[in-house]
Amino acid sequence: MAMLTDTLFRPLRDLRISLTDRCNFRCRYCMPKEVFGPNFQFLPKDTLLTDDEIERLARIFVSLGVRKLRLTGGEPLLRPNLEYLIARLASIALVEDISLTTNGSLLTHEKAKRLKEAGLKRVTISLDSLDDDTFMRLNDVDCRSETILSAIDAALEAQLTPVKVNMVVIKGTNDTQVVPMAERFRGTGVIVRFVEYMDVGNTNHWEMQQVYPAKDIVNSIHDRWPLVPVQRSQPGEVATRYQYADGQGEIGLISSVTAPFCGACTRARLSAQGKLFLCLFASSGFDLQHYLRQGESDEVITDQIRSIWSKRDDRYSELRSSQTMVKSKVEMSHIGG
Ligand code: SAM
Ligand code: SF4
Ligand code: SF4
Repeated sequence: MAMLTDTLFRPLRDLRISLTDRCNFRCRYCMPKEVFGPNFQFLPKDTLLTDDEIERLARIFVSLGVRKLRLTGGEPLLRPNLEYLIARLASIALVEDISLTTNGSLLTHEKAKRLKEAGLKRVTISLDSLDDDTFMRLNDVDCRSETILSAIDAALEAQLTPVKVNMVVIKGTNDTQVVPMAERFRGTGVIVRFVEYMDVGNTNHWEMQQVYPAKDIVNSIHDRWPLVPVQRSQPGEVATRYQYADGQGEIGLISSVTAPFCGACTRARLSAQGKLFLCLFASSGFDLQHYLRQGESDEVITDQIRSIWSKRDDRYSELRSSQTMVKSKVEMSHIGG
């Protein structure tokens, strides 16, 4: 059968699966406490996709071309028995890569080892600052950077490699941490990816002035340790990569605001409730759980997804403007970045 592509000829290659909408952090830019406070109504547990449902959907997506699975959230390590789910996903033929994005706070050495044994290949751990005052102000739950550094060690020890560290850079908040973060991880094998602060969701009151452009990040690091650009190695790769000229490793830039990469976006996103989102900035998703719980066959669900993807024309970041920014958008904690 011909390869499935959308209206912009982008194949379906990656599936990001959100395992929960809950999180033990309250990052100011993602789940601010004023909105996600003690009275916030998270999704009822029985409306979340079960492990059986996730595995079934993953198999269907793989039959349509997906080769990489990323588990995310909310905080995916809050999901009970994650190892069992990973083992089931790892058993799907043709899956080349299973990765996890986590805040790292629950990633102990023991947990990292169990995840690796279950079939997880690699992790991305989020860490926005080495400086505790800044980090705690951002995570808003008093988590110290030391806890996350220990999670990074655990991931390295369990060979969940290459370990990547995501740092969301917000002008005036943590931009002075760019060079210290680069310095901390140079020569360790860990790849720091500096992420431009994005206007995802509607709760973080994002403003363009808060974006610290990727080119300024590169320049500030390059002034200290010269950098050399690396050619994109895989289609669908969204990070712009640089190597340290002295051979001490590499960094990545995710410049979704200042240099969008929608043309290379081969990602579908599945929310914890089984809604299929075609873009990080979508207002709504397609309810796949409905089909599952109505008892529809794999063939029917496969046809639905094929039809949805073939009509996809999303390229929000390329069209970003004052008009697109006011629309209602799904929250990051629902679909996991
Ligand atoms: N809780 C996990 C974590 O923090 O790694 C996984 C989910 S989190 C939504 C996934 C990634 O999105 C994290 O690296 C986080 O820093 C990033 N993120 C969240 N809100 C963002 C925003 N407004 N702009 C850019 N990145 C954001
Ligand atoms: Fe939680 Fe991750 Fe969002 Fe922070 S970025 S609030 S850790 S889901
Ligand atoms: Fe993909 Fe949407 Fe981001 Fe563009 S804006 S790269 S289409 S998720």
